[in-house]
Amino acid sequence: MTDTTDQADEAAPAGETSRGGETSRGGETSRGGETSRGGETSRGGETSRGDEVVRYEQRGAVAVITLNRPRYRNAQNSAMTYALDAAFTRAVNADEIAVMVLAGAGDHFCAGHDIGTPGRDVDVSFDRQAVLWWDHVGKAGADARYAREIEVYLGMCRRWREMPKPAIAMVQGACIAGGLMLAWVCDLIVAAQDAFFADPVVRMGIPGVEYFAHPWVLGPRFAKEVLFTGERFGAQRAYQAGMVNRVVPRAELAEATFALADRVATMPPFGLALAKRAVNQCEDLMGMRPGMDSVFGLHHVAHAHNAEVSADSLAGMDARAMKRASG
Ligand code: ZN
Repeated sequence: MTDTTDQADEAAPAGETSRGGETSRGGETSRGGETSRGGETSRGGETSRGDEVVRYEQRGAVAVITLNRPRYRNAQNSAMTYALDAAFTRAVNADEIAVMVLAGAGDHFCAGHDIGTPGRDVDVSFDRQAVLWWDHVGKAGADARYAREIEVYLGMCRRWREMPKPAIAMVQGACIAGGLMLAWVCDLIVAAQDAFFADPVVRMGIPGVEYFAHPWVLGPRFAKEVLFTGERFGAQRAYQAGMVNRVVPRAELAEATFALADRVATMPPFGLALAKRAVNQCEDLMGMRPGMDSVFGLHHVAHAHNAEVSADSLAGMDARAMKRASG
């Protein structure tokens, strides 16, 4: 493995992770939802200690759920994924919560899936929540990759998109690749003026991240530009494309997001749940769900091709290489 680093600026991934079935580094094994490594305890949703990978706080009728690995630009490992799921579950189950806000601690919302931090945990078993599939651990090749990604990426994102309470993403700084997936599953997005977005995984030979919402949230032509160039686009461009609802100065991000959340929270909960479901159903009738299913196959052809002809399923690209390639 060449992607282990303690340097936050080098560990921030630009893409995604999917080395299921390959060898993991020693000394980092842990079991579902209780990972404790380097001050990162992942019992998200049960307490709100500052050292957790996901923090849960209540602010009136709003649950504030915060990705909390700022040292690694909130790179999403499995521990964070399951802590996030636990936090969302807690918010959905709490009658006093009407709206959820998803935030990122520090200067960046989320730099993507963890492809290079010391807390990378692709070969660790967790209690699966999203789909009925077998554990990826102990499997090889596409068997392992498919099992892992249909659970923690496509399946988990779909599960979150279908939560019956509105979710608002509050985005500052980097929102890259897997970070886009987390923002996109939210119903509304409020972006700071310094927010920037990208899905650069075509550089790995992969046609976009697993939750392939690109044509629906960006429009087909801009989606192609984003994928073909891998370049960042800013909050204003995201607003023009209809991907975000509000762009505000960084200093006003929290205030603007909570004002929107409080406004939404005044509506009747069942009405909100039905309205959310109505739009989601129509989005799926516009092809999003079957589109994602079909593209998930292309995504895994790309991983398998990479594993067959290059160093690994990510075409030998780690976080550092992706950063270097993107200039
Ligand atoms: Zn993948």
